Amino acid sequence: MTAGRVAVVGGGLAGITAALDCAEAGCAVTLFEARPRLGGLTHSFRRGRLEVDNGQHVFLRCCTAYRALLERLGTADRAVLQPRLAVPVRIPGEPRTALLRRGDLPAPLHLAGTLARYRPLRWTERARAAVAAMALRRVDPADPRTDERSFGAWLREHGQGERAVAALWDLIGVATLNARADDAGLAGAATVFRRGLLEDRAAGDVGWSTVPLGALHGEPALARLAAAGADVRTGAAVRAVERAGDAWHVRTDGAEVACDAVVLAVPPVVAERLLPPGALDAAPGWAARLGTSPIVNVHVVLDRRVLDEPFVAGVGTPLQWVFDRTGQSGLDDGQYLAASISAADGLVDMPTPALRERLLPELAALLPATRAARVVDFFVTRERHATFRQRPGSERLRPGTATRAPRLFLAGAWTATGWPATMEGAVRSGTAAAAAVLGSTAAPRVPAGEREVAA
Ligand SMILES: Cc1cc2nc3c(=O)[nH]c(=O)nc-3n(C[C@H](O)[C@H](O)[C@H](O)COP(=O)(O)OP(=O)(O)OC[C@H]3O[C@@H](n4cnc5c(N)ncnc54)[C@H](O)[C@@H]3O)c2cc1C
Repeated sequence: MTAGRVAVVGGGLAGITAALDCAEAGCAVTLFEARPRLGGLTHSFRRGRLEVDNGQHVFLRCCTAYRALLERLGTADRAVLQPRLAVPVRIPGEPRTALLRRGDLPAPLHLAGTLARYRPLRWTERARAAVAAMALRRVDPADPRTDERSFGAWLREHGQGERAVAALWDLIGVATLNARADDAGLAGAATVFRRGLLEDRAAGDVGWSTVPLGALHGEPALARLAAAGADVRTGAAVRAVERAGDAWHVRTDGAEVACDAVVLAVPPVVAERLLPPGALDAAPGWAARLGTSPIVNVHVVLDRRVLDEPFVAGVGTPLQWVFDRTGQSGLDDGQYLAASISAADGLVDMPTPALRERLLPELAALLPATRAARVVDFFVTRERHATFRQRPGSERLRPGTATRAPRLFLAGAWTATGWPATMEGAVRSGTAAAAAVLGSTAAPRVPAGEREVAA
């Protein structure tokens, strides 16, 4: 059965995808977004002569639904994807850069060579890490017992010491799970490492935008939705979603829209507020129990270039990943770096001058050329609710698409997508919600000419 009138609440990647799918299937779609623009947690803003992203975003080749959305928005050519995974890794005080780079052998052997040469670990640690990686391939993320276990405890049981956790597992895990191994659930971690690194040799190739995020997602989505006939209302915070007779009534401050189906693609706390009582199995307070986790980005503009690669990962430094953002920002002299710090509980409330005092020396230790450079600008973006808090037991707190309320569905990276809180998860959740509205079983789209990797 197709629903005629569909309201989508929330214009992040989940809401954009759900709205596009429904509009292109012929529904009369109204998309409500509280902020003045689409894109949700992926947005950009102007600061003087710079275009700044709220936070650096990357994706992997295995993020097929997300990449297909870029194609749909006509922006796939505004992102690059490495032809082969290569992550330069630096340690403060260590002059040589290590490289995590995949080879040509089938997974997981495509990583054997790089791991064997990975200098941040001793050779015994490298060998033990390889054995643990093989064991992680056998962990079933869908098993409820996996959800209850801590990734950190599992790593220790599998012979991983402090250095292996810091220099290898957390290097990737913190950025993708927004949690340190000791805080993270094994289910999410197994998903990330299996999908991204251990099952398909090309899956973990890294991609990133060459334009500000607003130009990659929000602005083209607005145009595409308008072309599909959707009524997009920005600056329209939904206050209530109520059932009257056979219809849903979606109320903002200035308007009320009647519709046959609703997709709530908002953050968990907003979803809990808008859902009718008893719409989910979970006891009240479920959104707070799911929790959130912060990401901080530290932005540094320098009067000269100090980093030659597009990005570098750091070990033994709070600056987890440092990206060259000069091109995206429009800066035409010097260099603009953004250091992305996930699981940033310890830094998110620190005032900017204190962060500057703490982190500029760290940047100089990681990238020694910084010592000779003048800092032209330093600022911080803080996303306190960047992702849900991925920890043991969190998978069972993530609700699915359907609710008990008739034709009222959920979408969002935090729903039970089988993915961590990522752009890929958001897009998949939007596809699932639209399929539920349309009464179809549409699978997530994949980029043109490509089969799905490691579904
Ligand atoms: C700093 C940072 C870095 C990240 N890095 C990565 C990365 O490298 N790779 C990756 O894949 N993912 C990354 N993520 C995660 C990714 O951005 C999110 O998982 C994804 O964008 C979430 O999309 P969403 O549509 O589910 O939710 P959101 O983007 O949160 O969208 C929800 C929307 O609902 C709107 N809304 C809220 N209340 C109302 C209301 N009452 N009425 C109407 N609208 C409302 C909000 O304004 C928002 O636009 C990062 C996130 C952050 C913050």
